[in-house]
Amino acid sequence: MTRSFWSRGITLAVVTVGLFVTPVGGSAVAVAAAGTTPFGPERFAHNHATYVITTKSAYYRQVWQSAISAWNRTGAFHFKLGTTKNAQITLKTASKTQAVALGEDVGLTDYWSKNDLLLDVTATLNPTLLKSYAYSRADDVHVAEHELGHAMGLAHNPAEESVMYYRNRSVGIKQVDVNGAKLRYQTPAGQSS
Ligand SMILES: [Zn+2]
Repeated sequence: MTRSFWSRGITLAVVTVGLFVTPVGGSAVAVAAAGTTPFGPERFAHNHATYVITTKSAYYRQVWQSAISAWNRTGAFHFKLGTTKNAQITLKTASKTQAVALGEDVGLTDYWSKNDLLLDVTATLNPTLLKSYAYSRADDVHVAEHELGHAMGLAHNPAEESVMYYRNRSVGIKQVDVNGAKLRYQTPAGQSS
């Protein structure tokens, strides 16, 4: 899932979750989207960004790290370790109080963008829900990979064989996702697929 906030300032643009919902259907658009994971208008300036993992849980730290390694191995996007002060992407877990606000979302990605360029992204895993649904460690990593996909600008893929399927649990990063990430960074900010 993704979510964004309206800015109190005038320069930060906002996109709501609605723009990331790709309808499933028999149209040519849906078939084309399934071949390459689609993306929204937002992207980072480059196909790399810095991250910091702030969760205090050693387990979820490793889950985030595994998901980062999996994306970095694809060569489509590179996550580089930053610091708490300057990282462009913050990776965390929801507290029990925040978990209530997340409702049925096992993961969530918030971001700020300006002129469709991503500035500050926060991705959150929801341990309360992941545990109550008895997600395996592999499932947890898939959720983390999904949120990192949003963090770099990917939208949902209507096909189930994609890490960006909106209800994905058991599928890791597929070639359609790698293709989507590569195409996202071959395509200027402001254009979506
Ligand atoms: Zn999502």
